[in-house]
Amino acid sequence: MTGQHRIVVLGAGYAGLAAARRFAKKGRDARVTVVDAHAEFVERVRLHQQVAGQRIPHWDIRELLERRKIHFVHDRVRELDTVGGRVILDREPALDYDTLVYALGSAGDSTGVPGVAEYALSVATPADARALPISISGGPVVVVGAGATGIELAAELAESQPDSRVLLLGSDEPAAWMSPRAQGHVRRVLERLGVEIRSDAKVIEVSAAGVRLADGTVVGSAATIWAAGFGVPDLAARAGLAVDGRGRVLTEPTLRSVSHPDIYAAGDCAVIAGPDGRELRMSCATALPTGKHAADAVIARMRGREAADLRFRYVFQCLSLGRRDGLIQFLNADDSPGRTVLTGRTAAWFKERVVRGAAWAARP
Ligand SMILES: Cc1cc2nc3c(=O)[nH]c(=O)nc-3n(C[C@H](O)[C@H](O)[C@H](O)COP(=O)(O)OP(=O)(O)OC[C@H]3O[C@@H](n4cnc5c(N)ncnc54)[C@H](O)[C@@H]3O)c2cc1C
Repeated sequence: MTGQHRIVVLGAGYAGLAAARRFAKKGRDARVTVVDAHAEFVERVRLHQQVAGQRIPHWDIRELLERRKIHFVHDRVRELDTVGGRVILDREPALDYDTLVYALGSAGDSTGVPGVAEYALSVATPADARALPISISGGPVVVVGAGATGIELAAELAESQPDSRVLLLGSDEPAAWMSPRAQGHVRRVLERLGVEIRSDAKVIEVSAAGVRLADGTVVGSAATIWAAGFGVPDLAARAGLAVDGRGRVLTEPTLRSVSHPDIYAAGDCAVIAGPDGRELRMSCATALPTGKHAADAVIARMRGREAADLRFRYVFQCLSLGRRDGLIQFLNADDSPGRTVLTGRTAAWFKERVVRGAAWAARP
């Protein structure tokens, strides 16, 4: 290969920016270009706060990257030409690459349940959050999905607008994957904030009037917010990369694509083996280290060295429960819940520090 090695990073979320930051430190001999459809990095883990009316931080991506001599292209990736080694964009000229880091993240999944795409709102991306009406005083708001996003959103809405009626529907207990003590705390705080919880509610249809449950009940809502799962862009699948049933790129332990040796993947859009071979969960906590590791693997290969396998262990998971309460569940290496939890204001403070730390770790 002659000339500078051309690395193109797709996506300037937590994973893509963590990769860029690493390239800025260790891969200065390469020409690095980052592409994102948005000009600003918005802290995605705070979108529920934005929906509840708070201002959340955002940064100009070009400014962040160009002071570290990394090029930024503000455009949407339309297609990958893996044979020619090119990224096809909507407006700008195509970009040639020697190595590609695929970090396009995730968005709300509106497939699977009829009416979600037409009638439900989402907080999954900055664009979704901007489109959501902040005032929810017009009637009951139904949040579907009692996972981390649904819990954080319901708590934030109920705390910021105490006169509103917020319902949290899930087919399981909120935070069912956590320890009994953690689950108990989450339920207590949600109830204290006035959130109405239904943990036996499998939603089978969304309409303008509300949601229909598997038992035939219709729950009326002025706004339905879908927080029951994330999907990924279909670009990798369309380009012929090996992907799983959801379109996430299958990776080797170095984070190289199993089918395309010049492509690496990180963050929500990749299938990455964690401790005990269990897939890493979609999270900012995994996006940051996998973005960094993908960059390290690319640099090692560029220098003719063998890339190391990713070594990752979980430590804790944080939930915000409004601005004055929270939950920190300490985890075993494999993501199973440990015995220790932090709650209350200490947990809220801890989570705020973690969120700030994540943004700091992503900024090149
Ligand atoms: C409300 C909310 C709260 C959350 N709270 C937490 C939390 O407390 N802790 C935690 O660990 N995780 C949390 N998450 C999950 C976390 O935000 C994601 O797992 C994380 O952002 C994944 O990082 P990523 O870099 O893989 O993807 P993203 O952050 O989604 O970044 C992907 C980037 O790719 C860009 N992109 C996508 N498609 C294209 C295209 N075709 N062309 C160009 N650019 C494109 C997007 O604009 C985006 O900037 C939360 C998520 C939400 C929605």
